[in-house]
Amino acid sequence: MKNLLIIGAGGVSRVATVKCAMNSEVFSKITLASRTKSKCDEIAKFIKERLGVEIQTAQIDADDTDAVVELIKKTGAQILLNVALPYQDLSLMDACIKAKIHYVDTANYEHPDLAKFEYKEQWARNEKFKEAGILGLLGSGFDPGVTNVFCAYAQQNLFDEIHYIDILDCNAGDHGYAFATNFNPEINLREVSANGRYWENGKWIETKPMEIKMEWDYPEVGVKDSYLLYHEELESLVKNIKGLKRIRFFMTFGQSYLTHMKCLENVGMLGIKPIMHKGVEIIPIEFLKTLLPDPASLGSRTKGYTNIGCVIRGIKDGKDKQIYIYNVCNHEECFKETGAQAVSYTTGVPAMIGTKLIAKGIWNKQGVFNMEEFDAKSFMDELNTQGLPWKIIEMEPNLGK
Ligand code: NDP
Repeated sequence: MKNLLIIGAGGVSRVATVKCAMNSEVFSKITLASRTKSKCDEIAKFIKERLGVEIQTAQIDADDTDAVVELIKKTGAQILLNVALPYQDLSLMDACIKAKIHYVDTANYEHPDLAKFEYKEQWARNEKFKEAGILGLLGSGFDPGVTNVFCAYAQQNLFDEIHYIDILDCNAGDHGYAFATNFNPEINLREVSANGRYWENGKWIETKPMEIKMEWDYPEVGVKDSYLLYHEELESLVKNIKGLKRIRFFMTFGQSYLTHMKCLENVGMLGIKPIMHKGVEIIPIEFLKTLLPDPASLGSRTKGYTNIGCVIRGIKDGKDKQIYIYNVCNHEECFKETGAQAVSYTTGVPAMIGTKLIAKGIWNKQGVFNMEEFDAKSFMDELNTQGLPWKIIEMEPNLGK
């Protein structure tokens, strides 16, 4: 039984907290803390009414490492689950080092003033985590997260060598708005408006935003336009999947989303540098976030499915082999269970599973690690029982041709 502190109270947090409460035989005490305490109280009320489980709430500024250390001491937490924003990763990792408790997050560090994300500064804390005798688990969402585990499962159980991986992320949900993002608008728009990048034959190849497009037939969803993006799990998978010749990431976007994004970009609304407006300094993308629907409010309106998975080609017993391993998730079912849509659900459930495997001592190392550096089967088994079942189909080997 472990005492857990969850930080952040958006859509992902809601799902992760509900799911932790559903696993109360593992989490003896849960404290949910965030910048706006009323959001924590609302989630706590939902959990009390639905599950009869009592959780504690608190106000915290996650950028203030000392305040987080104080809160950890006050609550007696043994694990911290960070489902705030990527900007808070380093301050929360430092709080865990000081308080000597395990750390889990779902997205890699981004500096608020730089539209760039990488693991460098989180990996640099490896020695400090080792010295403190604690585990830092990075990227325990869906992508990164489950996609890393799918690759690790393939490496550990299905292939002798892996040569090609395409990660394919489809959200075919419809929320009825002309334009909205399914998770934090700032983080989402920074990611998709950046240059694309993939890894081939030992080097990174950069593309213009949305330059590479393909049509992909997603099982249970249908054919969708899918665009090559740089995505953070590529950085760690290139290190940890041996023998790789190429890895790419694709995400689906509808034409309306792309047209809106291009227009917002053209008029400067995606800017991250402060500008003056009538004597007041504003950051355009932050102002845009204020105008757009809160992703947490999309839950009740969103219909349809997500399908996220990996196509993997390599060699098994001397033979060429290709598999597709994926999960399909229904927005309305997710909302019924947790009050959040499938993008939050597919992130929050793996956040809980990673935390649970640490709490039970099943994933047990000291230092900072990515998801594919652990035994994948225990995570895959949990996915099947916690709401994200997966399928594997064999395919004609064609990746890389
Ligand atoms: P939201 O914006 O809905 O929620 C973020 C929460 O963090 C809000 O409650 C916010 O507080 C809180 N917060 C922000 N800054 C601070 C701070 N300084 N101190 C305390 N609390 C703070 O985001 P999502 O729930 O959509 O996303 C959460 C995380 O999940 C993000 O890091 C995102 O990148 C990641 N993610 C990962 C995915 C994956 O598959 N790996 C997919 C989708 C998201 P307030 O309510 O006051 O604004």
